[in-house]
Amino acid sequence: SMYQAASGRYGRMRYRRSGISGLRLPAISLGLWHNFGGANAYGTARGLIRHAFDAGITHFDLANNYGPPPGSAEQTFGQILAADLRPYRDEIVVSSKAGYTMWDGPYGDWGSRKYLISSLDQSLSRMKLDYVDIFYHHRFDPETPLEETMGALDHLVRQGKALYVGLSNYDADSTRQASALLKRFGTPCLIHQPRYSMLDRGPEAELLGVLEEEGIGCIAYSPLAKGILTDRYLQGIPADSRAAGSSVFLQPEDLTKRVLDQARALENTASRRGQKLSQLALAWALRFDTVTSALIGASRTGQIDDAVAALDNLPLSDEELAEIERILQP
Ligand code: NDP
Repeated sequence: SMYQAASGRYGRMRYRRSGISGLRLPAISLGLWHNFGGANAYGTARGLIRHAFDAGITHFDLANNYGPPPGSAEQTFGQILAADLRPYRDEIVVSSKAGYTMWDGPYGDWGSRKYLISSLDQSLSRMKLDYVDIFYHHRFDPETPLEETMGALDHLVRQGKALYVGLSNYDADSTRQASALLKRFGTPCLIHQPRYSMLDRGPEAELLGVLEEEGIGCIAYSPLAKGILTDRYLQGIPADSRAAGSSVFLQPEDLTKRVLDQARALENTASRRGQKLSQLALAWALRFDTVTSALIGASRTGQIDDAVAALDNLPLSDEELAEIERILQP
């Protein structure tokens, strides 16, 4: 059936500027790491993307290796774009990345110019796009000169294959160095994508400060700790959940008594705010201006609705923040 985007889609979403740039991103972005591969049902994936766009989620995050199998999430997204979203291309921000293992041999991994340039060409052909809006280097490569990797990003922008560039999983020092190079080349870094949630607070130590100084936005991935900071696992492990599935990135052993106790205590805090645990986790991740967007995953449309509804109640009081600190205390 012909898809027509919901007419009220820009009413509820908030858009936040990414660092010092002209680009605003939805406070909630949708990632296609899980649930969009060749192994997943196309109809479900298509329904999720349409539902997200109808809710004002204009930003979809991909990478060369998302699937499984690697590459298949980009293929699925390309199919959905062609079927439903082609008329809306200019209302959508698509990101992709290269940096993790993608193909055999010495040129399908890490940070060489050879890898980045050929990988983006492959991503564009899988998605049937002329350009991506944001192209990231997915992880720091200690063996390739940063000049080469950043030079490749700059080159891709000059070729028109990416509009902006980003860094993911870089530590504070490498981010500062990479940002200086990109500024020198005339292609400033738009955004940094670190893992950040109440259970993973690494970026608070140094990275967020560097991003603020450099004028780089931050998009926090796994803000729900892959589902741990939701009601998903509070009564056991549902058969249709990520932890029960084949993903090696969330296993039943990760659901320790300690994190589940914390999740239950946080759920109490959330319910006193009239929120679900997942919504408190998103409000918390978005509490700094530097954090432009929270990058969630979803397996069903209700999860997208939950995330968007979190935006109705973002401010956290000092008392609530202190209570959360007590719960998260090591
Ligand atoms: P989240 O922490 O948001 O976890 C998403 C999962 O949580 C969902 O798949 C779902 O689990 C569960 N969930 C979400 N909302 C709800 C809800 N309202 N109620 C109950 N359960 C809920 O993020 P992800 O780990 O999925 O990562 C998000 C995106 O971040 C990725 O798609 C990718 O784009 C990006 N990312 C980037 C990385 C990088 O290195 N740059 C690494 C990892 C992720 P279930 O499927 O079980 O229903």
